[in-house]
Amino acid sequence: MPTDIASMDLQELEAALQAGGHPAYHARQIYAWIYRKGVTDFEQMTDLSRQLRAELASTFRISTPVVLEKEVSEDGTVKFLLELEDRRRIESVFIPDTPSQTFCVSTQVGCAMKCGFCLTGKMGLLRNLTAGEISGQVRVLARELGLLATKFNIVLMGMGEPLHNYDNTMKALRMLNDEHGLAVSPRRVTLSTVGVLPALERLASEPLMPNLAISLHATTEDQREALVPVNRKYGLIEILDAARRFPLKRRNRITFEYVLLNGVNDTPEDARRLVRLLGNIRCKVNLIPLNEAAGIGFSRPSDARVDKFARALSNAGVIVSVRKSRGRDIRAACGQLIVEGKEKSPAQSAAALL
Ligand code: SAH
Repeated sequence: MPTDIASMDLQELEAALQAGGHPAYHARQIYAWIYRKGVTDFEQMTDLSRQLRAELASTFRISTPVVLEKEVSEDGTVKFLLELEDRRRIESVFIPDTPSQTFCVSTQVGCAMKCGFCLTGKMGLLRNLTAGEISGQVRVLARELGLLATKFNIVLMGMGEPLHNYDNTMKALRMLNDEHGLAVSPRRVTLSTVGVLPALERLASEPLMPNLAISLHATTEDQREALVPVNRKYGLIEILDAARRFPLKRRNRITFEYVLLNGVNDTPEDARRLVRLLGNIRCKVNLIPLNEAAGIGFSRPSDARVDKFARALSNAGVIVSVRKSRGRDIRAACGQLIVEGKEKSPAQSAAALL
């Protein structure tokens, strides 16, 4: 099988070309074709000689997720079902006008975190995505939607826990940032995590630093353990300490995501505790009223309840927003990404029964 270059950064591609006896500068041309034009076939790289194109095609391949299905929500959100080389499937979502254009990208097939209200968690972790599969989702969605030449945001909020696949995720961000490719600024990228502590500490010293969102969802250790099992290992207080130490550029804030579950974590006491916990952290809170699904044993609070919770935070000086769920009608909203293909894995079939 030809060597895959989809997971190579520019330096690796230069080295691979040189190892094959080609000048390194062709790497920049190839990178521009792949990332700026969405080309995945060497034959179309018309500024390379015919002979070189033929040689490249026999030594290399550019693995690219294949679009199996595309569902468009009434609010314009588009959910993509993508198939990878080993036939595993993932979902990626395009969310228009938030006000920017945003791609919500997966980092794993399934997820090991098993948060009690998240459907992806029910699948379990099938495998990590490669750097090429993570960046490939952006290439494919942007190409499909004609957005390769525009500025867009990326949120790592699809399937999977990005800090549980640290190296591939960070490599994908470096590749997407390359000036010869899409040149996506890290300021346009948000990484959302349950707070895998050692990886969070590593992230704090990355030269290429995305915006950070931490999925908090609870105000006591017991309550968080019940909702986010990994809290047993990396507790609420430890995560907040790490957040307090996290280096923030001027005017930037950490986002805390908080899924509101009716009668579980949305009481006035929760609001008060949350204010106290976040007291001296430069942050904002993004409330996400639960997106309900069969098999999820929680319900979504009424709008009035959500509003009351939001007001309690904002009256205490916390910056707060309520996430408008996009694409709920096509099950593209937070926590609803799960692959429902015809050939289900055992974990997927099990999840479907829940
Ligand atoms: N694993 C990462 C990123 C994925 S999910 C993380 O946990 O942060 C992005 C957000 O959607 C997370 O805050 C997650 O907790 C939330 N979410 C999961 N299931 C949800 C549901 N059913 N309704 C609303 N939000 C949900």
